[in-house]
Amino acid sequence: MRYLSTRGGMAPQPFTDVLLEGLAPDGGLAVPEAIPQVSPEQLQAWRALPYADLAYEVLKLFITDIPEDDLRALTRATYRPEVFGGEAIVPLKPLNPGLFLLGLSEGPTLAFKDMAMQFLGNLFEYVLARRGSTLNILGATSGDTGSAAEYAMRGKKGVAVFMLSPAGRMSAFQRAQMYSLQDDNIHNIAVHGVFDDCQDIVKAVSGDLTFKTTHRIGAVNSINWARIAAQVVYYFHGWRLATAGAADPMAQVSFAVPSGNFGNILAGHVARSMGLPIRRLVLATNENNVLEEFFRTGIYRPRASSETYETSSPSMDISKASNFERFVYDLMGRDPVRLKTLWDQLAEQGAFDLSARQPSLEAQYGFVSGTSTHADRLATIRQVRAETGVVIDPHTADGVKVARPYVEPGIPMLVLETALPVKFSATIEEALGEPAPRPAGFDGIEQLPQRVQTIEPDVQVVKDLIAASAA
Ligand SMILES: *Cc1c(COP(=O)(O)O)cnc(C)c1O
Repeated sequence: MRYLSTRGGMAPQPFTDVLLEGLAPDGGLAVPEAIPQVSPEQLQAWRALPYADLAYEVLKLFITDIPEDDLRALTRATYRPEVFGGEAIVPLKPLNPGLFLLGLSEGPTLAFKDMAMQFLGNLFEYVLARRGSTLNILGATSGDTGSAAEYAMRGKKGVAVFMLSPAGRMSAFQRAQMYSLQDDNIHNIAVHGVFDDCQDIVKAVSGDLTFKTTHRIGAVNSINWARIAAQVVYYFHGWRLATAGAADPMAQVSFAVPSGNFGNILAGHVARSMGLPIRRLVLATNENNVLEEFFRTGIYRPRASSETYETSSPSMDISKASNFERFVYDLMGRDPVRLKTLWDQLAEQGAFDLSARQPSLEAQYGFVSGTSTHADRLATIRQVRAETGVVIDPHTADGVKVARPYVEPGIPMLVLETALPVKFSATIEEALGEPAPRPAGFDGIEQLPQRVQTIEPDVQVVKDLIAASAA
């Protein structure tokens, strides 16, 4: 399996080469040259596998330049009960009849990003050792991505992480999660400014090609294809759990996905394209509804960061979804020329109009969409707790709210649980009048010593920090 750019300007490359790159040289995103197909017989054979071995079966369709035994060892080293809170790795939790939560937040940082990032940590260490190389990961975070990356890369040989975060703007729990790490290869850099200032510094440092090459700067953002591939696995897993014992072995399920950068739900689209019986992919946004608008109208109109609201589901406060280009590539019949025409139009006019194709988004691809507001989030958190005793996080609440009208008899609806509520306790207190339940092992983490340097938003200072501690 080789990888191409959505914009057509990259010679086919093997997986491990695109793994270590960000955008393709032409500004596009790496995509597999074909979507691998899974037969009904294979699907049935995968039903009984442990999660790690299911991951191996799915990932080996995308990763053909790592020996199979090594790949199996990597998935087994990643998806272990000690790392993901128990034998299930990803449990299915019933809410109401026909409505379930898919428990993707049992990993070390209590958000679904651990599912892919933990694999990436092991994969990076393996690939870098084989190449005799090192990598310095530079990133900006407003919360979940940074901690997932740090917990995945801590102690890994050949890798260092330099993570910028806006000083004083994350929840106390999120700060404690990141800044309490004491590993030598993890560098927390708090910047006096907002998330966009952090992002601008990352762009400036990565844009200095001499510096980038000399210091082997890499990224783990959500456009990394390895993250998408690792996320495809849990759609297969969710399907097999929800249809175990069904009369029809190819029974359908639907998924509802709280969405921001379109990475999580893109993995669902890939799984469906591979032959997994998914009826609907329900895309949930918060007040930042660019994607909801596209799937409802066919018009894509990304917003400026000045038009992006700060909401109580902050990991979805995104108005320009970086992975969306990969879906549009499929929608354009995987034709890079047609894709590029749309992106040129986007650059010139700030929008493109595919309203003529809107009916096919549901009919052919299974996509429907909806939005959820702060009031919806609070009401949904209360309602789910009252009906089931389960406390859900604000992002997951957006998913449940948007999923409800699409629940159909006989077709399980699985809402992806993207984080645990303890990460966003202020909103839980607002909804329920009491703090979120705290999982074992997280008591008092706010009191642990923290390791973080606070700086002014200055590109040179960041470059100096990297040069001083590079892997
Ligand atoms: C990252 C994140 C999302 C959005 O996922 P995308 O892949 O960017 O669409 C939703 N909820 C939580 C809690 C997240 O951390």
